[in-house]
Amino acid sequence: MIVDRQGRRFRKLRLSLTAACNYACTYCVADGRRLVAARDELTATAMLRAVELLRDVAGVEALRITGGEPLLSDRLEPFLRGLGTLAFQDISLTTNGQLLAGKLPILRSAGIQRLNVSLDTLDPNAFRKIAKGGDLQTVLSGIEQARRAGMSIKINMVPMRGSNLDQVMPMLAFCVQQGYELRFIELMRMGHLAQHAEVFRAQFVGQRELLELIGERYEFSQAEAPVDSTALRYDISEGGAFGIIANESVPFCRSCSRLRLSSTGWLYGCLSSNRGHFMGDLLALPSDQAHPQLAGLLSRALGDKQDATFTGSALIMKSLGG
Ligand code: SAM
Repeated sequence: MIVDRQGRRFRKLRLSLTAACNYACTYCVADGRRLVAARDELTATAMLRAVELLRDVAGVEALRITGGEPLLSDRLEPFLRGLGTLAFQDISLTTNGQLLAGKLPILRSAGIQRLNVSLDTLDPNAFRKIAKGGDLQTVLSGIEQARRAGMSIKINMVPMRGSNLDQVMPMLAFCVQQGYELRFIELMRMGHLAQHAEVFRAQFVGQRELLELIGERYEFSQAEAPVDSTALRYDISEGGAFGIIANESVPFCRSCSRLRLSSTGWLYGCLSSNRGHFMGDLLALPSDQAHPQLAGLLSRALGDKQDATFTGSALIMKSLGG
């Protein structure tokens, strides 16, 4: 196991199954540019080998499948089928929900019980302006069907001033009523927002402001969370809970256990670093050769982690596995 001076190690892997996305969210990409698959994305077999190696060498225990939009990829099904042999206890998936209803049988048969669905508003006009793709009703119906299928669902919302701040309370009321945990993700200085500080600052809504807003309607108290959790969790007295991923306000770098693998085989140890470490070359090697080489890459990736503060990076989330 590779551990750094702060006692951090990689325990949770986020795998970007594809860089392609059927949305072009304002916080992810500039100018509504739709993201396509990278030219040299790994095959499902290569991805499975990468995950196996990372399990064995880094000791990753939890896998989150993300992207891009993972449900768009034709590698989803063969990847999930193969995943069964790797015996991961904890497999989850992050999706924008657009294709969710049709993919539920595959997800369920792969044993996926936990979904994070990104949804930034319940207002169809605001939805179109933020996501620049997809259809709100389709997402809501997909979420509902996933719930009926017994899946545990968290909703990810990025609150932004001048965009969907007025949706914080309707979204929370909806999630409390439906039994979904709402996760507010503070806007992160990634991609174009890393290059345009003034746009970022104008839109950013922090943890304190969110708590004040929510406090006008709900009583809540901070709940326990695992030590390497990215989210601060709050229980609402009348029932339900919400979380805030407060990268900026309350950075969690000191306990971060995340490792990211891009769809093209690059490892990233920190969201605030655009340094990637290519493991694609190791995938065809026998384990006795691949393991020591991968250990070298992993200690470099672990060395990329920030000590204490999130600074963002010019890379966009779709290539990192958001
Ligand atoms: N397509 C999937 C989805 O929409 O959930 C998975 C990929 S998406 C990049 C994963 C998450 O990253 C989403 O919940 C999105 O809100 C978040 N995200 C992307 N860019 C962000 C940014 N600049 N600040 C905060 N969250 C961001």
